[in-house]
Amino acid sequence: MKYLSFIFICTCTLTFAQRDIYKDPFRQLDQQLPTPNDYRNASGAPGHKYWQQQADYNIQLELNDDKQTISGQEVITYKNNSPDVLPFIWLQLDQNMRAQNSQTYEIGSQKLDDKMSEAQVSGMEHPFDGGFKLEYVKDNVTGADLKKTINYTMMRVDLPKPLNPGQSYSFKIKWWYNINDRMKIGGRSGYEYMEEDKNYIYTIAQFYPRMCVYNDIEGWQNKQFLGQGEFTVGFGNFDVAITVPSDHLVAATGEIQNTTEVLTKEQIALLAKAKNERVQPVIIASQKEAEARELKHATTKKTWKFKAINVRDFAFASSRKFIWDAMGVPQSDGRVVMAQSMYPKEGNPLWEKYSTKAVAHTLKWYSYYTFDYPYPSAWSINTDKIGMEYPMICFNGGRCEKDGTYSRQTKYATIGVIIHEVGHNYFPMIVNNDERQWTWMDEGLNTFLQYLAEVQWEPNYPTRRGPANLIVPYMKLDEKFLEPIMTNSESIQQLGSNSYAKVATGLNILRETVMGRELFDMAFKEYSRRWAFKQPYPADFFRTMEEASGVDLDWFWNGWFYSTDYNDISMSEVKWMKVDPKDPTKVAEMKKEQAATAPQNISKTRNMESIDKYYSDMDTTIRDFYSTYDANEPDAIDQEAYKKSVSSMSEDEKKLMATGDNFYEVTFERKGGLIMPVIVQLQYADGTKEDFRYPAEVWKKLPENKITKVFRSPTEVTKFILDPYLETADINTEDNQYPRVKEEPSRFEVFKQQQGPRENEMQRAKRAKAKS
Ligand SMILES: [Zn+2]
Repeated sequence: MKYLSFIFICTCTLTFAQRDIYKDPFRQLDQQLPTPNDYRNASGAPGHKYWQQQADYNIQLELNDDKQTISGQEVITYKNNSPDVLPFIWLQLDQNMRAQNSQTYEIGSQKLDDKMSEAQVSGMEHPFDGGFKLEYVKDNVTGADLKKTINYTMMRVDLPKPLNPGQSYSFKIKWWYNINDRMKIGGRSGYEYMEEDKNYIYTIAQFYPRMCVYNDIEGWQNKQFLGQGEFTVGFGNFDVAITVPSDHLVAATGEIQNTTEVLTKEQIALLAKAKNERVQPVIIASQKEAEARELKHATTKKTWKFKAINVRDFAFASSRKFIWDAMGVPQSDGRVVMAQSMYPKEGNPLWEKYSTKAVAHTLKWYSYYTFDYPYPSAWSINTDKIGMEYPMICFNGGRCEKDGTYSRQTKYATIGVIIHEVGHNYFPMIVNNDERQWTWMDEGLNTFLQYLAEVQWEPNYPTRRGPANLIVPYMKLDEKFLEPIMTNSESIQQLGSNSYAKVATGLNILRETVMGRELFDMAFKEYSRRWAFKQPYPADFFRTMEEASGVDLDWFWNGWFYSTDYNDISMSEVKWMKVDPKDPTKVAEMKKEQAATAPQNISKTRNMESIDKYYSDMDTTIRDFYSTYDANEPDAIDQEAYKKSVSSMSEDEKKLMATGDNFYEVTFERKGGLIMPVIVQLQYADGTKEDFRYPAEVWKKLPENKITKVFRSPTEVTKFILDPYLETADINTEDNQYPRVKEEPSRFEVFKQQQGPRENEMQRAKRAKAKS
C-alpha cells in the first residue's frame, strides 16, 4: 500500500510540474499573426489583390507672420480603390490636439510642486486657442455643404451618395488656425520666436485636414491623435501654393514649380551648380544675405508653388532667417537627388559644416540597405531641440553657443538627429507603416539603419542605440516599467528604449548573431522593396524576414517582440577531464606530479618535518629502509594487468588512451526567459583563443534550461568566456567567465568630511532669507 501511494504521488507531481513550467519558446507564431489572405500573403508580401486608397490634394495656403496664423483651402480628390462601398469617409484634424477641449489635455495627469513657474501653472489651464477653425466642408462640384461630425481629432463626412469601388470624389475645405509657440507649449511643428532680431522660424506640419487611411486591416484607421502615436496616412499627389512674406525662404515637400518667381537668377544658377557638386555643398543663400534679410521685415508677399508626387504627407519651413546650401547625390538609376539644408545663423558654423553632408550620407547608406531614394530632394531644416520627419523634409535640432562654439556632444547629437530624421524618408515615408498603431515599425527600423549609417560616418561614432550591450540597462528594469514591443504606441512608457532602441538592437542581434549579415541584409532589403509605397503591418515584416532568409525566427519574434523577457545565460560549471592512460608507469608519473602541487594535510607536513629532523642524525641505511615506500610506484602485478588489457585493444582505442588531451564539459544555464545563441570563447595556456558558436536551437526540448558542451584540446584552457563580444544583451555578465574573476574593481569615492554639525532645514531657510 505504501509503495503504491508513493509512486502515485511521484508521477502526479512530475506531470503537473512539467505542464506548468514548460512553454515552448520555439512555438510557431501562427496563433498570434493574422491569417494570410489575398491582400497580404503567407510569405509576407502584398497579396495579388492588395489595394490602397489614394487622396490627392490641391492646397492654397497663407502664412500670416504678424498674427502667426495659417489659413488655407483645399480640394481633396479621394479615389476608392477598395472593394467596398463607402457611405462616409473620415478625415484627420491633427491640429485639434491643441484645441482647448483636447483629450490630450484630459488624459494627462497634473501635479503640484513646492516650486512652480508661472508657465507651469498657466500651462495647466491650456490657454492657447489651438485647433482647426473650419469654415466649410463642401462638395467640389455642387458647392453644397456636406454633413460633418467632429469627434475631437477626427471628422466624419457623409457623402451625398455612397462611393463605389473604383470611383473618385472631390470636396473642398476652408480653415484657419493659430500656430503654436513650439518653444513654450511644444509640438512637432509650430513657430520659434527669436527675441534678438524679432523674427520667426516656422516649421509647419499637420496643417491641413487630411484623409484617414481605409485599409484591409483596420477599415477606417480613425484612432484619436493623442500625441504619442504618430501618423497613419496614405499616398497621394500634392499641389501646394504657400503665400509668405516676400523676404522669406521656403523649403517644402516636393519641388518648386515657379522658381523664376520666387528665386533670383543667381540662386537658380547656384542650384544648377550644386546639383553637380558631390563633396562640398554650394551656398545658395549666404549667412550675410540672411542677416541682411533679418533686419528688413518686408511687407510684400510671395507665393511659392510646390508639387509632390506619391507622398504620404506635406510639410514646409519658412523664415527670413534662413541660410541655404545644397549638393547633388547620384542614385544608381542615374538620377541626381538634391541634399539641402536651411538654417538660421544660430546653427552656424556647425550646420554649414555638417548638415547637408549628413543628408547626403544618409541617402547613400540607407539606399545601400534598402532601395534608391525615389524623391527629387531631401531637406534638413534647423529647429531648436526637436527632431521631426516628413516626406523630403525634416526639422532637426542643433544650435551653437553665441560665440559660435559647440560641444562634441552637440556635434554628434546634430549629425545623429539629421541621419535619423532624413532616414525616416525610408521608414515610414516610403515603407508606409501604420504609426498610430505601431511606433516600432518605423522608429525601430529607422534607428537600426541610423546606427549602420553612423558607423559608416565614423567607426567610433558615439552611437546610443544599436549594439546589444547598450540595451542591457533597459532589459534589467523591473517588469512594471516594461511592456512588449508589440504594444500600441500610446501605451508604451519608455518609447525611446522600447520602440527605438530595443527594436534596433533586436535587428542588430539578428544581423550579427542569429542570421549573419548576408542573410539578414538580403531579407531586410526584400522587406523594404516589397513594401515601398505600400502599408505593411508587423506580420508582413516577421513573415518576410523568414521567407527571404530561410531562417525560422518565430522564437526570436516571440521573445524579443512579444515578451518582456531578458537574456541571462550563465556558465555554471566546468568539468575538466583527461583520458586515464592506464599504463602504470604513466599513471605513477601523473600521480607524483599531482601530489607535488596538491595541498597537504597539516599533520602530514608537520610529521615530515619532525621525521626529517629525527633522520638527520641517523645511519643512512636505516633511513633508506624507512623512507623508500611510495604508494604511487607501480608493481609487477600492475604492469602485467596493463599489458594484458592493451593486447586486446584496437589501434584507435590505444591512440585515444595515449592522448594527453584535455576534455572540458561546460554547463550553460538559461536563467532569463529569452532564447539566445550560445557563444563561448576558450583561451588557452599558450595564449591562443578559439570561439565556438551554437545556434539558439540548442535550447530546444530543454524545459530544465540547462545544456552541456564538451571541448577537447591538447593545450590546457585557462579561461572560458561566454558572449565574449557582447552580442546577446546578457543582463548579468558576472557569471559569464570561468574561472570567475572580477576584472574591474568597483570604486568608492573619497569625500571631505564636513566640519561641525550639519545645517538643518530651518537653518538653511534662515540663511537663504538673509541672503535675499
Ligand atoms: Zn524617429
